[in-house]
Amino acid sequence: MSRIDLHTHTHFSDGSFSPTALVELAHQQGLNILAITDHDTTDGLTEAMEAAQGLPLELVPGIELSTEFQGRETHMLGYFIDLSDPQFQARLEQLRATRLDRIQHIIERLHALKVEISLAEVEHVAGRGTIGRPHIAQVLIEKGYVKGMKEAFERFLGIRGAAYVRRVVPEAAEIITWITEAGGIPILAHPYWEGLNAEKTVVSCRTMVEQGLRGLEVFYGTFSAQQISLNLHLARQFNLLITGGSDFHGTFKPEISIGTGRGSLNVPSKVMDHLRQAAGR
Ligand SMILES: [Zn+2]
Ligand SMILES: [Zn+2]
Repeated sequence: MSRIDLHTHTHFSDGSFSPTALVELAHQQGLNILAITDHDTTDGLTEAMEAAQGLPLELVPGIELSTEFQGRETHMLGYFIDLSDPQFQARLEQLRATRLDRIQHIIERLHALKVEISLAEVEHVAGRGTIGRPHIAQVLIEKGYVKGMKEAFERFLGIRGAAYVRRVVPEAAEIITWITEAGGIPILAHPYWEGLNAEKTVVSCRTMVEQGLRGLEVFYGTFSAQQISLNLHLARQFNLLITGGSDFHGTFKPEISIGTGRGSLNVPSKVMDHLRQAAGR
């Protein structure tokens, strides 16, 4: 069983657990290395670090940022960022402002569809965390407009949903620079390379490497053996770091377990040795 999980979310973004509860769960499940990678915020990390004190669990500071790469939404993970870097924190603030803007637009579209929810209700569900579509979904469920998260995204919030609003996010190259300037290591999250042939996949990967990408999330909660082997091959070809994680969201994605994803995730321990070396830790 994997004892490493480098991709998890807390209620500071779209996970259901508090940082403390997540750390406790990771420990109970036998993990000894955990990264918290909330969307657009590092605010959960202080609480998580306190919770991990005294436990045989190393907490790796992380983040997940949305980017655009060649017209497609692409996620970037950053590890070992200097959390106190004021420029980086100001950039995150800017990203969170665009999220709020998008949420307001979605609510307007919902109103036009006679779905009456308010920003205050969504903010209440989001709590102190980065606001996102899953929080709107929660309100839709609570108010009886939909039965569950899946229906909320299919009918309203997903890319084919009636109230979908595209979020404008920075280019991958820019986000790679932000992470690097904050002393972090940029890693491409869950690389699907969907719809790309072998040649285009290599070209895309090369472009990101030229932009400063340092690694690939080769092991992922829902990846097939084939996806893993393609990403391993690319990582070797471009001499990239390899990471892995479940993308755990707690009860919001109940099919994914911490550490093991859908059951077969197993992040090798040497992954962490290389990541630490790269970060100079
Ligand atoms: Zn992601
Ligand atoms: Zn994630």
